[in-house]
Amino acid sequence: MPPIGADRPRPIVISGPSGAGKSTLLKRLLDQYPDRFGFSVSHTTRAPRTGEEHGKHYHYTDKEAFMKLVDEGGFIEHAQFGSNLYGTSVKAVKDVADVGRVCILDIEMEGVKQVKKTDLNARFLFLQPPSVEILEQRLRGRESDTEEAIQQRLAQARNELEFAKTPGVHDQIIVNDDLEKAWTEFREFCVPGQAP
Ligand code: ADP
Ligand code: 5GP
Repeated sequence: MPPIGADRPRPIVISGPSGAGKSTLLKRLLDQYPDRFGFSVSHTTRAPRTGEEHGKHYHYTDKEAFMKLVDEGGFIEHAQFGSNLYGTSVKAVKDVADVGRVCILDIEMEGVKQVKKTDLNARFLFLQPPSVEILEQRLRGRESDTEEAIQQRLAQARNELEFAKTPGVHDQIIVNDDLEKAWTEFREFCVPGQAP
């Protein structure tokens, strides 16, 4: 991987089961601190959800173009999640580093493992749902996924929760039960010293 600005601030990797609330908290952070943080816009082969924008939430692509970028060495990490491919391009992280902002990556656990092997020197935050039952309610309440996708996400959630128990794998684990409490903890991790 080409070097990405050695003197840049440490990126933050946020992971956690789909439906844990990552996008909800990230949106708040990016809205409140637009000049401090930049989102690493991933590539994905999944279809956009209602309200999602190409180039803002994801770069939506097809499998062929995705695999071409893999072959060209264009990804820092990539993984399959459910029936779709997701990846962080070198360019996505570099674009944020180039404007001096803290880069935020929202990725699943195989991507976390790969990022740990790079020289990105990231900080790792895991967002945990209060329970798998509540996670299922939230996934259903979001009304964005088919029944098959919900089942895939719940199965994957169990893997994510198991992996998160590995000592030292995350710098912090936040349980997203009460949203305001989770937000306070999340903001403190990302912008230390801002509480209350
Ligand atoms: P993720 O990005 O991790 O997949 P989302 O941010 O899309 O998750 O959240 C999944 C759903 O749960 C959304 O409908 C969101 O509004 C809702 N949600 C997030 N946090 C909470 C919370 N603390 N209490 C209740 N609902 C929540
Ligand atoms: P969603 O389809 O709900 O947006 O994302 C599904 C999962 O893919 C989430 O766990 C999310 O964190 C993860 N994800 C999003 N972008 C990437 C990426 O670039 N790489 C990896 N490895 N996972 C990603």
